[in-house]
Amino acid sequence: MTTNIDYSEFEAGRHVNYWRLDRTIQREAASVYPPDAYEWAVDHLDEFGELIGHTIADNADVIDQHGPELFTYDAHGELYNHVEYHPLQIENERLVYERGIVADCFTPPAGRDEPMPFSHNLVMQYLLSYADPGFDCPVAMTTGVALVLERFGDDRLAEAFEGLTARSYDELIEGAMFLTEKQGGSDVGANETVARFDAATGTWRLYGEKWFCSNIDAEGTLALARTPDAPEGTDGLSMFYVPHTTETGDLNQQIYRRLKDKLGTISVPTGEVEFTGAKAYLVGEEAEGFKQMAEMLNLERLSNAAASCGIMGRALLESKIHAADREAFGRRLDQHPLMRVDLVDMAVDHEAATSFTFEAARVFSSRETARRRGESDDDDYRLMRVLIPVAKARTARMAVATASYAMEIQGGNGYVRDFVTHRLLRDAQVLPIWEGTENILSLDVLRAFNREGSHRTLLDWLDERHDEIDHPLLSDELEVVRTTREQLEAHIASLMDDPAGAQRVSKRLLNDIFEMVTATVLLDRAQTRLTSVNDAREVALTRRFIDRHLKPESTDVYTDGDQFAETYFDTIVRFAPLDPAEIG
Ligand SMILES: Cc1cc2nc3c(=O)[nH]c(=O)nc-3n(C[C@H](O)[C@H](O)[C@H](O)COP(=O)(O)OP(=O)(O)OC[C@H]3O[C@@H](n4cnc5c(N)ncnc54)[C@H](O)[C@@H]3O)c2cc1C
Repeated sequence: MTTNIDYSEFEAGRHVNYWRLDRTIQREAASVYPPDAYEWAVDHLDEFGELIGHTIADNADVIDQHGPELFTYDAHGELYNHVEYHPLQIENERLVYERGIVADCFTPPAGRDEPMPFSHNLVMQYLLSYADPGFDCPVAMTTGVALVLERFGDDRLAEAFEGLTARSYDELIEGAMFLTEKQGGSDVGANETVARFDAATGTWRLYGEKWFCSNIDAEGTLALARTPDAPEGTDGLSMFYVPHTTETGDLNQQIYRRLKDKLGTISVPTGEVEFTGAKAYLVGEEAEGFKQMAEMLNLERLSNAAASCGIMGRALLESKIHAADREAFGRRLDQHPLMRVDLVDMAVDHEAATSFTFEAARVFSSRETARRRGESDDDDYRLMRVLIPVAKARTARMAVATASYAMEIQGGNGYVRDFVTHRLLRDAQVLPIWEGTENILSLDVLRAFNREGSHRTLLDWLDERHDEIDHPLLSDELEVVRTTREQLEAHIASLMDDPAGAQRVSKRLLNDIFEMVTATVLLDRAQTRLTSVNDAREVALTRRFIDRHLKPESTDVYTDGDQFAETYFDTIVRFAPLDPAEIG
């Protein structure tokens, strides 16, 4: 039986092992990895959590003060397109990539016959984001470009694929994706960049501007552009692989104009690029670019959700430690009743976000594994089409709220650059924007319903999951969840007949789906924990989530003084096991 964690042993959320201290991600990994993959991964994740909690976290603080610098021209006025990184950034990259964060999902790591599922890549991204969510952006894009090339690339791009999935840092190339143009980020169909075929080389040349380009100097970039006579809108877009340098070793024909002066995610250089005839290779079929890019975007959005949960994990850890160490009014902060409620609900939020995200990761991984085996993946695809935008939108919003409140828990210090909460909030603030804003994702859920029929798959999946819950301790919660599921079905049905009205309430729908699915996943985790180790901690967690999100707002707390937070503080905040006999 595990024991509770005493956070007063620590001074700050650094120089600790993020994997070992985070039993939420341990539970999720155990739940969503195939058993053989989990068995292989445990020691690796423990070692990775140690690395991120020490060297990577320390380096990240320095890099935040010494961000990358762009030199568009050299001393002689020649085009240079050179980004200069702090040496500690290079060290972080070498350490993280060489732990197989990308490679393990494409080629079997030592000790395995098959690659790891993508859920493993996402757990590693989660842990990395405890220390540096900015650096997680290139990691996510490198994984995404490799996925696209694995799926749609041809022989000419085989070397690029090998570089993206290389195990040695010296052979590795990173990925990037340039979609956004001045006139539209959400409205990708407004892209104006054009591609012209260059018969002399058998490749394409790109002309146009890209307005937000993260990891600007990546060797392996995917960009969308319009071929001659292509129709307007997304249907006319093709996907191109645009290397930083050509095979002769010369710079490609593009100008890195300037880097954006950003609020956060300082470790990743985001800039503006002008294509002036850049050599480019068509990926997949002409005019299929947007559909192919959607495959990458699914992974990027899941990565964003994993990073959001990682930021929440770090913010929560810093809060728990500070509340255990700091005294006010004669006692520790975490002994004050109101702070105990805060910490319980921050922890429940983090658990909810993480459970949802990794359930979505499980579905995504299962689809990719099936695809590689040449098997059918339709149900997973339809389910994933709704879970991923919901995960991305809701967890990003929660990360900002959690990072903001964690700053307040540190008091005045939290607002000061010397403390990591300053960076966590700055880094978190981009998560709702890039990879699709909350509005765009809410509309995407409607699209998945209308085009793919994802709502039917979602409702069937919920029913199947509910049918699996039969533990008597969960029967009241199951009843509430089943009733809410009926309401959700009715709401969806009425929206399907009213497209304009559906848009106006789509954000509310997205949030309802988050709550419904999260409650379902938490019920599953609670039952597993009860039956495997006779621990009712997750029952308490599920009850709190359902009370706050699925039941009508109650005034009972005024009469009972929110006894939940007091009774279950140790179990929710410090992971103390809970005897099922002690929960009514
Ligand atoms: C730090 C950073 C890094 C980035 N890196 C990259 C990158 O590497 N590659 C890349 O391609 N892009 C990148 N982006 C761009 C990012 O993806 C876009 O900024 C984002 O998708 C929003 O697009 P936009 O800025 O054009 O805003 P707009 O699309 O103009 O949106 C403005 C507002 O209008 C809302 N809106 C738009 N359409 C609708 C609608 N139909 N209904 C209701 N509301 C709507 C949006 O939700 C938003 O709130 C990056 C952005 C940032 C901040």
